[in-house]
Amino acid sequence: MIVKIKKNAERANVEELLHHLESKGFDIHSSFGTTVEIYGVVGDTAAFDIRSLYAYSCVESVIRIQEPFKKVNRKIKSEDTIIDVKGVKIGGNNIVVMAGPCSVESYEQVDIIAKTVKESGATILRGGAFKPRTSPYAFQGMGVEGLQILRSVGDKYGLPIISELMDTEHIDDFVKYVDIIQIGARNMQNFALLKQLGKIKTPILLKRGFANTIEEWLMSAEYIMSGGNDNVILCERGIRTFEPYTRNTLDISTVPVIKKLSHLPIIIDPSHAAGKWDLVESLSLASVAAGADGLIIEVHHTPETAMSDGAQSLKPKKFKDLMVKARAVAIAVDKTI
Ligand code: PEP
Ligand code: MN
Repeated sequence: MIVKIKKNAERANVEELLHHLESKGFDIHSSFGTTVEIYGVVGDTAAFDIRSLYAYSCVESVIRIQEPFKKVNRKIKSEDTIIDVKGVKIGGNNIVVMAGPCSVESYEQVDIIAKTVKESGATILRGGAFKPRTSPYAFQGMGVEGLQILRSVGDKYGLPIISELMDTEHIDDFVKYVDIIQIGARNMQNFALLKQLGKIKTPILLKRGFANTIEEWLMSAEYIMSGGNDNVILCERGIRTFEPYTRNTLDISTVPVIKKLSHLPIIIDPSHAAGKWDLVESLSLASVAAGADGLIIEVHHTPETAMSDGAQSLKPKKFKDLMVKARAVAIAVDKTI
């Protein structure tokens, strides 16, 4: 629920109210504007008689939040969440670009790609070490060794790293080695995994499942936040539609919809949406124009021989060209890359 405080309310009365709400076990999020003071109250408020709060003279109004998602809801927190990953800000006026190979294949491969994406302006290095492959016969990733390679190359170039976690078994390895944990489309509703992610503080990039609604996606973010981890970044990566030309259909409307419904940052993965490298630039520019907080792009120096997703990976030169254009689009929407 949302509690709005009267102008010039007596501070002692406000304190008493907050104390009362805390004693009921609710979490309180404050939001101060120049003229308004609002508290978002989260918890099991279903059985709570919200009218009882009018007994406090400081209370102007109390309303229930109709949506099932609470902590991710913009009604609870009106200002944008900005997540700081080793000095790289995700959210706000900065557009973050994460880039790197689909899969970590060797130290040399990650080293070559990291160097070029950094030169072009990427500030976070991506690379999968545990791969969710459709076929059990396909390359499954280098595992912990892959995380270690990503970590040492990331440190060499001063790039924080992001990698996908698939199960609860490897959480400790990820907390140890990576700066952002990616939860892939296939695991968006792995609730046992989401509950465990609520117990750590490492930022989580939560991809939208390819057959999930925006509300289901936000409820998955709510699982992580309700467990105590507020550092959630949403990532749209295309959904399954009747259209087979592209691997998935990029749902660009998620950007303004998420901006309206939630305070969390939203970034776009044009690579998995398109499935084809020659579409990645257009989708990236459209995402920046739509107001996305960032991009995560697959880049490979020899995509012809990549162990996974070569068809959608940009060569370093194409990535460089994309960054130049993306910077120009960012200026048009008052943002910087
Ligand atoms: C990936 O990022 O390499 C990946 C497998 O992503 P998604 O979960 O979006 O398919
Ligand atoms: Mn991939």
